[in-house]
Amino acid sequence: KTAVVLFTRDLRIRDNPALAAACANAEQVVPLFVLDPDLGKLSPNRTRFLHESLADLRAALREKGGDLVIRTGDPVAEAIELARTTGAEGIGMAADVSRYARRREERMRQECERHRIALRLFPGVTVVNPGELRPGGGGASYRVFSPYHRVWRAAQWRDEAATPTKIKLPPGVAAGRLPAIPKGESPDAARGGETEARRRLTTWLKHIGPYPELHNDMPADGTSRLSPYLRFGCLSPLELAQAAIKQEAEEYVRQLCWRDFYYQVTLAFPQLSTKPLRPNGDIEWRDDKDALQHWQDGTTGVPVVDAGMRQLRAEGWMHNRARLITAAFLTKHLGVDWRPGVQWFFRWLLDGDVPNNSGNWQWVAGTGNDTRPYRKFNPIRQAQRFDPEGVYVRRYVPELKGVEGVAVHQPWRLPEKVRRDLDYPGPLESHRDEAVWLRP
Ligand code: FAD
Repeated sequence: KTAVVLFTRDLRIRDNPALAAACANAEQVVPLFVLDPDLGKLSPNRTRFLHESLADLRAALREKGGDLVIRTGDPVAEAIELARTTGAEGIGMAADVSRYARRREERMRQECERHRIALRLFPGVTVVNPGELRPGGGGASYRVFSPYHRVWRAAQWRDEAATPTKIKLPPGVAAGRLPAIPKGESPDAARGGETEARRRLTTWLKHIGPYPELHNDMPADGTSRLSPYLRFGCLSPLELAQAAIKQEAEEYVRQLCWRDFYYQVTLAFPQLSTKPLRPNGDIEWRDDKDALQHWQDGTTGVPVVDAGMRQLRAEGWMHNRARLITAAFLTKHLGVDWRPGVQWFFRWLLDGDVPNNSGNWQWVAGTGNDTRPYRKFNPIRQAQRFDPEGVYVRRYVPELKGVEGVAVHQPWRLPEKVRRDLDYPGPLESHRDEAVWLRP
């Protein structure tokens, strides 16, 4: 018996249900990844991370006697072609929720039927399958986080899938060449792959204790930074949640539930990246290209906003508190549409994905599932609270390196002589009316 496993964003051998099932049920397994040339154009950072993860996955599969078969083109056509040439009876893959993924699944279903190949979809992208937990009253998904979190935490989770010990590729299958690892755009971005994910997981579990106190503290950098590894499935979210529970890190487990939450929202509402989730969420946004440009470049003149935007470019990642501040600044203060914000983040973030990026943006913009959609975020107060010494700002905005302490958050309040010598802009022209909140 032969089975094809189509890897998508589950680039790991540990707790990979599709791979484990194939290895348990078939004598020969074809682990396959198909490079879709269109997807690479979206984000050089994620393309680099993907290629590093593929190289690592190939090495892990080779160690077990198998290989990672690489093809370029349409994932459906390539998987069917390999299944036919190897005489495989089935194709297994992880179920996913984005529109792209679901169209791919649907086409795969049709092609498998046509060629009499069995298709099996597996869990593994989230802790709990999207759509498995339904609200009472027949809603398609939970719209509010707290009730979802309650049932999610009480639900029976699946068991971790076995790591294969031996993999046998059918004879005559050419593994295919992995192209050279392309360049990303961010010089300080994290490295992809399951090996790196496991190294970081081990370190993180030693530091998880003070997470509740530290996760909002921007200079402390006290979060796991595991999001890119979850994004590409280099690390199993179920394994991570179970490990955190063992350490009694409930606050951390709760954050992982946010991730699952937005997946089940996306399953029920696939237009999440383009359409407001909330009825009446169609707000009249300002079309201010200049403000958008300054926001993207990290030159708004509001240091905490600029620091976050520059961290994004430098690392392909941004601290969650800074994501909240920068997104609220664009939408609630500059009054600019959340959708260009989604796209900008999506270009740079290693962890960028439709459910979490769009879901969080909509939450911040007040078009999503926030139960208090009109809340305002004062960036100066946020900065004073979560970067009280200004360490985070000075780390990412070198023009302000010489300004000591909390004063760095309001350079416009420095004595005129000092301010003139700083190579740093004043707050945006279009934004000066807001001077009231700039002076808390
Ligand atoms: P930790 O604090 O260590 O948390 C552990 C894990 O929990 C994270 O890796 C992540 O998987 C999950 N998590 C934490 N906070 C959230 C949250 N608010 N929503 C969903 N999951 C969460 N996260 C993404 O993975 N991809 C995105 O594209 C993304 N875009 C965002 C856009 C905006 C405007 C905002 C406000 C948040 C966004 N987030 C996104 C959520 C969050 O900022 C990141 O998951 C987090 O900063 C990742 O860092 P970490 O792994 O150190 O998090």
